[in-house]
Amino acid sequence: MDLKRTSFVDPSLRSIADKIASEQALSLDDGVALFASRDLHGIGRLANFVREKLHGDKTYFNRNRHINYTNVCALSCKFCSFYRKRGEAGAYEMPVEQVIDIAKRAAQGGATEVHIVGGLHPWLKFDYYTDMLSGIRRECPDLHIKAFTAIEIIHLSRISHMSIRDVLIALRDAGLGSLPGGGAEIFDDRVHDEVFKGKVRADRWFEVHRTAHSLGIYTNATMLYGHVETVAERVGHFIKLREHQAESLANLPACFNCVIPLSFIPEQSELGYLPGPTGLTDLKTLAIARLMIPNIAHIKAFWIMQGVGLSQVALDWGCDDLDGTVVWYDITKREGGGGTTHQELHLADIQRLIREAGRVPVERDTLYREIRRDPGTDRLIAPAPALV
Ligand code: SF4
Repeated sequence: MDLKRTSFVDPSLRSIADKIASEQALSLDDGVALFASRDLHGIGRLANFVREKLHGDKTYFNRNRHINYTNVCALSCKFCSFYRKRGEAGAYEMPVEQVIDIAKRAAQGGATEVHIVGGLHPWLKFDYYTDMLSGIRRECPDLHIKAFTAIEIIHLSRISHMSIRDVLIALRDAGLGSLPGGGAEIFDDRVHDEVFKGKVRADRWFEVHRTAHSLGIYTNATMLYGHVETVAERVGHFIKLREHQAESLANLPACFNCVIPLSFIPEQSELGYLPGPTGLTDLKTLAIARLMIPNIAHIKAFWIMQGVGLSQVALDWGCDDLDGTVVWYDITKREGGGGTTHQELHLADIQRLIREAGRVPVERDTLYREIRRDPGTDRLIAPAPALV
């Protein structure tokens, strides 16, 4: 597509298109203008231009299993419907053996990744976490362990009295492969103080990720949108990610792999009175993430949060990744789902969704290396398991 010749219903997209064509970074004002524009198809064409320049028609997914080892949490974030206090109905903590067993069954079923996050449990000792990682590593040497948000890492630093760097080294030595990038919420102190008080602010979140990158540990980055933030604060979040990524790319051995904008689900949270984002907000936010952050390779439509249908549409609005099979996800569940946390997409369904959108499904590992399997046995041929 020749962006210079593309016409837009909204003339304000013209100057933005020219910047994108000449690979100039978009400004805060550009991002706000994109959110203000009603030319949804124009925004989609721009985001699709960047998406196809980076990835063509390839659309990535992986075979993964989410494990939420505990919902007991010392904090009580207003937007969170997941946490429980110890002893409260529904509170749980999985013994290490249970986590290892789930990981083992996932690996036997063909998963290449476990994605492990939980609440900030006040009584679990640091050994619990290292035992969990080393146990999975021992039982499933080829499984990539993506685990712990920045706030969990800071919690581990507090309970172990170790620096963030030493915590990450200890976790890496026990088997940690990468960080999933949750807990970023919105990188803005006003929003933070209104709804995320008690959680770490942006500077500490970036400190954890920068330290991980300095140790060669790749990470992802989320954004929780559609609650009390303004569109300017959303755009500011993207710009901060772009700037930190530029630093990591220039100076550090690892960086951010993927941005995952998460659509806020108000049900069962203290912010349940808010309406939550609409489908148009979801599509625009995903597309504008693609446009504002061209230096992070992948933008994920996380089907659990945006819904399967909209995630499929988002493949034309800048997204090149659909996450994976997931299986169980306790953090959020939409009303009408029968209250279950069993949220699974089968491999054939993911591939069908991608093909139906005119894209090419590509199974990847956590670090976005393309996976090849023996069609007869389903066993991994590449990348070699030793690299996982
Ligand atoms: S968002 Fe995380 S830190 Fe906050 S209450 Fe929920 S589980 Fe705890």
